[in-house]
This record gives sequence, structure tokens and C-alpha cells, in this order.
Amino acid sequence: MVCRYGDDLRSMVNQVKQYTKEGNVANYIPALSLADPADVAVSIYDGKDTCFSEGNHYQLFTLQSISKVLTLALALMDHGREIVFSKVGMEPTGDPFNSISKLESNIPSKPLNPMINAGALAVSSLIKGNSNEGKLKRLLNLVRELSGNNQININKEVAKSEFESANLNRALSYFMKQHGIITSDVDELLDFYTKQCAIEVNCEDLAKIGYALAHQGEHPSDKYSVIPAEIARLVKTFMVTCGMYNASGEFAIRVGIPAKSGVSGGIVGAVPGSIGIGIYGPALDEKGNSIAGMKLLELLASRYHLSIF
Ligand code: GLU
Repeated sequence: MVCRYGDDLRSMVNQVKQYTKEGNVANYIPALSLADPADVAVSIYDGKDTCFSEGNHYQLFTLQSISKVLTLALALMDHGREIVFSKVGMEPTGDPFNSISKLESNIPSKPLNPMINAGALAVSSLIKGNSNEGKLKRLLNLVRELSGNNQININKEVAKSEFESANLNRALSYFMKQHGIITSDVDELLDFYTKQCAIEVNCEDLAKIGYALAHQGEHPSDKYSVIPAEIARLVKTFMVTCGMYNASGEFAIRVGIPAKSGVSGGIVGAVPGSIGIGIYGPALDEKGNSIAGMKLLELLASRYHLSIF
């Protein structure tokens, strides 16, 4: 089969592999430290039958912060903008994803945006459902529909490992509970949050999720609406302004693709009206972004003129 991206992808992945040596896998969640730092993989989905992939693209990894995009979409579908943005703001922070400092200095106390941990915890506390099991089932259904993969599930070991070590996220949650931003039981919320972060995908799944977001929230192959177009637009805007932690500004300049990364080394990219991109590269830079993954996106954006700006 003639493949538009095939040879290019191979040479780009080979080119960026060297950068993996400059990064480190996340170890503050013990289970994530088992990843192979030398891994780099990419899939591109353009709405046809196959994904164009290179590297170990069947390797499973957990969504981590990429899940924040999906819970935001679900919370907006559950409650609408007014309620969601009464609990969380719309501004980038310039601080690390797990920082507590602006929660205290901001008056009224409300997390600045849904892509940092505090904001994501506030959003997760809004998901509708009678129990965590019911809420997770709804979230999993959304992820399965957006990726067209019914096999997607939660990696229970990663979830447990994070739940046991999530002291900072507990602190953020207790602070927000004190200030009325969340009302749920903190351990219940942490149980949900750590499981949402531990949803396990591969690069192809991510590429299809990116494609769905790039195409007004439509199912990647059957084209029916999974997420309302307005919510897909809003989510992509957050990906541009806050998706790459406190490197989002530089990333917008260097790459210019709406994207969200996670500390597992995953990155989802959504080029509006065009392709979806899924990347895996667990060696991270000091801000928590996949070091080779960022370079790879830069090469792709330049080669195929993918910047939205
Ligand atoms: N589960 C991780 C945490 O809350 C997600 C962080 C991330 O991927 O940025 O710390």
C-alpha cells in the first residue's frame, strides 16, 4: 500500500530517538517508572481504514493527564458551561501541573484551568453517576467511542500505585473542599481520578481520539456525533492554551497543533479538520512532556504544515 506518511515517519522517529536519553520516565507514580525510556512511537489517523504508525505503536500506556480533556468534555455534556466554569477557570497558569500556589493566591479560590491537576479534580467531581463505577463506565464508554476501540480498559495496577502515592492531589482536593469548590468525599474523588488517569490506550487509539476532536467530536469511522461540536472546539482551545503544561506557549510557537500530554509519555494531537496524532515516548523533560514526542511533533508540523496559526 502506498503510504503518504510511511517513510517520513520512520526517518522522523529515528531522528528523535536520540532525545530520549535526555529525559527521564516519571517515577512519582511508582508504576510509571517501569516504562522503557528508549521507546518512541507514533500513529497518524486521517479518517481512512488504517493508521500510519511507526515504532512500537501497540505498546499500551495510561492516559494520565490526557484524560483531563475527556473528563472536561463529559462534564460539559453533563452540566453545560455555566456550571463547569463556576468551578474552574479558563486561564493558563505558567506553573507546574500539580502546583498548589495559585489556588491559595487566587480570589475567589478556584483552579485556573481544567488541564492542571486542581482543575481536573474539580471537573472530575462533576461527572454524573450514582457511584464511581457508574461514572467510570460512562467515561470508558466515551473513550471507547472516540477511539472506536471497545477493548479499552483501566490498568488497575497503575491506578492503585497512584492512589497510594497521591498525597499532593489529596492536598489539592482537601484545599478545594475547604473552599467549597468540590463537595465530594476526597478519597472517593481520588479513586475516580486515579482510575481515569489509568485508562490504558496505544498510539492508534490516541490518534483516533485526536481525529474525533479534530472533526467536531465525530466518531472516527462512523462519523456520528459523540461530543457536540461546540464542546470539541472548547476542548481543543484548552489544548492550545494549557495542554502542554507550562510549556504550552513555546509549544504553540514551535508546533502549533492543539495537543495534550500526560506523564506516561503520551501526547494526543488534533489538527482541526485534518489528522489525529497519537504519540508515546515515556522519557519526559523537566516539565513533564515527552521529550522525543515534542520533537517529533515539531518535525511533523513543519513537514506537513500542520500549525493552525
Ligand atoms: N495522574 C497524574 C497526576 O495526577 C497525571 C499527571 C499528568 O499526566 O500530568 O499527577
